[in-house]
Amino acid sequence: VLPDPVPLLQELLRAGGDPTGKTVAELVKARCKAWRVVEGKNFLWVQPSARARLVLSGHLDVVPAGQGWTRDPFGGQLEGDFVWGRGATDMKGAVAAMLSAAEDLRTGDWALALTLDEETGMAGAKALADSGALEGVDLVVIGEPTGMDLGVGHKGVLHVELETQGKAAHGSMPHLGESAIHRMLALLRAVEDFQLPEKHFAHGASTLNLGYVRGGEAPNMVPTHCAASLDLRIPPPGSVHAARKALEVALGKAGQPYQLRVLAQGEPWEAPHGPMVDRVRHALRQAWPEAQEAWLPYGTETSAFREHAPCLIAGPGELALMHAPDERVRVSEVRAAHRFYRSLLKMWS
Ligand SMILES: [Zn+2]
Repeated sequence: VLPDPVPLLQELLRAGGDPTGKTVAELVKARCKAWRVVEGKNFLWVQPSARARLVLSGHLDVVPAGQGWTRDPFGGQLEGDFVWGRGATDMKGAVAAMLSAAEDLRTGDWALALTLDEETGMAGAKALADSGALEGVDLVVIGEPTGMDLGVGHKGVLHVELETQGKAAHGSMPHLGESAIHRMLALLRAVEDFQLPEKHFAHGASTLNLGYVRGGEAPNMVPTHCAASLDLRIPPPGSVHAARKALEVALGKAGQPYQLRVLAQGEPWEAPHGPMVDRVRHALRQAWPEAQEAWLPYGTETSAFREHAPCLIAGPGELALMHAPDERVRVSEVRAAHRFYRSLLKMWS
């Protein structure tokens, strides 16, 4: 009988009042004393033996609890088949399953990569990738929530902020000024129906969301400043670079001066194919027979890792509950994840 990862999950959830994950990192460090633990900037690297060829990866930070909960977001309440709490799905369920699997195996050619600052810029994953830890790694399995499906691809993302300047004038004589808001409106109209030319068989077309528009100073003044954010999601095999160029061509049709600043970006990703992936898929189906291949709507730390090692994504939790009130995860999925990660660690021992 395998030890149960659920009490550990509850412990991680109860330590979650601090969204940065630092409190949880302390807890994890205390549990991993028997192994070599490298503490980098925004990451922990736990490695029991001299070589690491398989990496299980998760992030320890969460988004803030927010409003609308019917349970204590940091209570770790167990009710029927669910454990409730901020981070249950994204992604302490997976972290608890990974740690439990590591504790079962104790040693082997594997490592745990636990990052902080995933939700706010993936600095931990970038620092980890830059540290050289992933040299010679066969595979990174990221435990982001897939409902125990095998994540085989996701869209890329480009967040930009547009900024326009105007010339102030009295509100009674707008013809003497230049409105920053009118400039912005022209730009936003130019990208209202914007789509990238490529479509993906599973992801469909690109999407563009206007996140915010902020501008103007006073009701009786021609506005001198306006800012707006655009969130462009890029299906594979596109790239952030090509998407930005296409967006700039579309904006250029407005004929208005503007500045564009990149707020965040991540490349689209598709999983590798081959015998190693087949073995992982087989292990996943042993642990969770319903597992399908899934195209994911969200970006992950693959964007930082994939230049260094092939990545796959599989973890417990429903996508719809990520970042939502009443976040919870199925106990049955957490236990299946534990079995799955454990069989991976065994394969690389
Ligand atoms: Zn996540």
